[in-house]
Parts: sequence; structure tokens; C-alpha cells
Amino acid sequence: MKPKTAIQKEVARLSATLHPITHMQEQWAYINCIEHIAYRNKSGVMTCSDCGHVWKSESHLCDTLAGCKCPHCCAELKAYDTRKRSDRQTQYFCVITTCGGYQVIRVAQVQSVSRKGEPRQNACMEVVQRWISPEGKVTTMALLRGMSFMYCDSWSIWSKMEVRTHHPLYDNVCKWGKVYPRKRYVPQLYRNGFKGDFHGISPITLFKALLSDPRIETLMKAGEIDEMKHFILNPSNADDLWASYLIAKRHHYKINNISLWCDYLRMLINLGQDIRNPKNICPEDFINAHDSASRKIESKHRKERIVAERRREAERREREQRRLLEEQQREEDFKALKSKFFGLVITDNEISVKVLESIEEYFEEGMTQDICVFGAGYYKKADTLILSARIDGQIIETVEVDLNTLKVVQCHGKYNKDTEYHNRIIDLVNSNARLIKARMTA
Ligand SMILES: [Zn+2]
Repeated sequence: MKPKTAIQKEVARLSATLHPITHMQEQWAYINCIEHIAYRNKSGVMTCSDCGHVWKSESHLCDTLAGCKCPHCCAELKAYDTRKRSDRQTQYFCVITTCGGYQVIRVAQVQSVSRKGEPRQNACMEVVQRWISPEGKVTTMALLRGMSFMYCDSWSIWSKMEVRTHHPLYDNVCKWGKVYPRKRYVPQLYRNGFKGDFHGISPITLFKALLSDPRIETLMKAGEIDEMKHFILNPSNADDLWASYLIAKRHHYKINNISLWCDYLRMLINLGQDIRNPKNICPEDFINAHDSASRKIESKHRKERIVAERRREAERREREQRRLLEEQQREEDFKALKSKFFGLVITDNEISVKVLESIEEYFEEGMTQDICVFGAGYYKKADTLILSARIDGQIIETVEVDLNTLKVVQCHGKYNKDTEYHNRIIDLVNSNARLIKARMTA
């Protein structure tokens, strides 16, 4: 990526002036970052992975735990009972230095390949540089990463060290790597309380925080290392609880476990208590106060759950009530439209054609005959009458009469097919239209 901002341009310019990783640094990394092994076979013959020397081990005194020494190149080795004939390792190491007022962390990758019986082959390549300004702003220079994120060890050796947009991998390689023992620091780090100890924090994380966050500087200077680590690694606690922390300190309150104390404050917030009030945040018996807050939250949660359950139940009942009312309304509407036809039967002594007298009957008719008389809502239609033609109670066809013309407009059997009675039913209904008309004018 082409450097765009002033700081990126400056970093790119300065980066070009850095000396390559030195031979001494590389040698240090080969010795300290790579695991040096001895291949040991069943008969106790040892092979040094560094120089390829082969010797017979006297006893099993030279075991994995004790380690052993190659009699030829004097490398300290870890013995493995293995039939493996090769060993490939990839590691990272950091060189901490300064350049042009920036704190710089250079990350190099070491690749080491051993083939049994041959001297080990090593290669070293600088892959990432983190440039931290005196204000704690980080600019990253790096080679191009391999296309697949799975293989974070693959860097394009053909690419150039360029300004790159941030990717978590750049932080990770800084965390993974051992640090070369000769280091240089910008004076701002010393000014902010740094004395050379990373306190188990990755240098990039520590430097960035120490240069950009006055709270971290305060903690470092006061020697409150646990608190500093906690607030660096839990920035939301630093943002939300810092004022309370200062109040507790002002009251000379001793916080034994910062992480537990922050949890306790989070619980106080949850319980609606004032976290600026020293009475709340500086309890004499902390463990007791912490446990009691925890119990209160649990009981609050239980109550909330019960309330929510009740509300859901009430909503369910309300929905059910509404549904019943709608159903009732539908039935009433239906009756208002069709009740005048109830009891009407047209028959020729074999076939009897009766009016459907409830929405439920429409449903049953639809289900039995596989037709849409219920689904399409025929019971709602004002100018239509549905009748069921039956023989001995068995449905034969379902009939629709147009109430304007008093003529059959549809007549179908099961699956909308016509039966042998089809024409007979139509004629029967049409010829008795006056019976329907009589009901309409009644
Ligand atoms: Zn050796």
C-alpha cells in the first residue's frame, strides 16, 4: 500500500534506513527460538539435529527430561525416541529498537529444517515492523501475507516491506515471538514509568497503552502492576470503572483482586447502586459483599424471569381471547347472512341437498371433499349459497347457487370432479329455486 498520511510517509522513509537483522541476532534466534533435538532410535543411537553427528548413548540417563549434549557440536539437545527423519520448525522473534523518535518492534521469522544425519538448515526473514509514535499511534510495515489466513506462517518473500492496514496477525506475531535481549527504548517510555519489565504483557500492547493512556502511565508509576495489566487487557473496565478506582484509592482502600473488584462494581451497577459512593465500593469484608451482591443479582434475575413468564402468559391469554372473539364474530356474521336458509332441504327422495348451517360444516365439507369451500371463505360471501348434496348422509357433490340469479354456478364432487349424479343435482336445485327465493323474501 502506498503511504498516504504524513506519519505513514515518515515511517516508510525511516524503515528504509534500518539495517537488516544482523547475523548475531539471527544466530541468537537459531539457538534460542528453535528446539534442538536428538533423534534417538530403539538401540539408543543418537543423531544430533544440528550437526548430524551420530553417537551411541551409554545409558538412558540421557533422557528427554535431562536433555543431553552433542559430543561433536556441543549443542544442548532434547532427546526424542522417534522414527522421524526430519524436523521443520517456524518461529518468530522480536528485536526492540528505536528509530527517528519511534519505538520500533521488528518481527522476524525463523525457519529451520533438519534432516537426520545432515547439518540443520536455517533461514531468517524480517516480516513485520511495528512503529509506535511517542503518542502511542502504531503504524505497521509488513511483507504481504499468504492468501490463506489459515497459514499465518506464509509470507510472500517476493513482496516488499510496505505500510499495511491493520490485521490481528500483526499483533499475534509480536506476542508469539521471544525478544532479542539487547533492546532500545524511546525516552517517553522511561518517562511514563517503564523500567524494562514487560510484566508478561506483549511489548506492542504495553508500549501502545503506556504511551497513549495516562491511566496506564499512572498505574505503572505507582507500581500497581496487577491493576495495570487488568486495565490494559480489559479496556471497557478502564473506561467504565476508572473513576471508581480512583475514589477507592483516595480512601486508601486495598484491592486484593482487581478482576474480582471490577466484577463486583459491575454487579453494583446492575443493582442500581452508586459506584462513586465509597461506602458501596470499599466494603470492609469484600468477599462477603461480593457474594451478597452476586446472590442479589441472582434473585433479581429470578424475579425478572417470573415477571417475564407472567407477561408471556397474559399475552398468550389475551391472544386466545381475541381469537375466540373473532371466531364468535365470524359465526355471528355468518348467521346474519345465512340463517334464513337454515333447515332448507331440496330432495328427490334419493338425493337430498341441504344448506350448510355453520362455519364448522363448511370446514367439514371442505376436508371430506378436498375442495376449497372453507379455505376460500365461501361462508363470508353474501350473494352466494352453498349446499351439500348427499345420499344417506354421504356427500356426493357441493353446490353453489348465485343468489342474484338463483342458478347453480358451481357443482363438484370430491377433488372438484363431477359424479354420475352431477346433472341430476344441478337440475334438482335449479328446478327448486323458488324454495330458496321463498327464504330470501320471508
Ligand atoms: Zn551436534
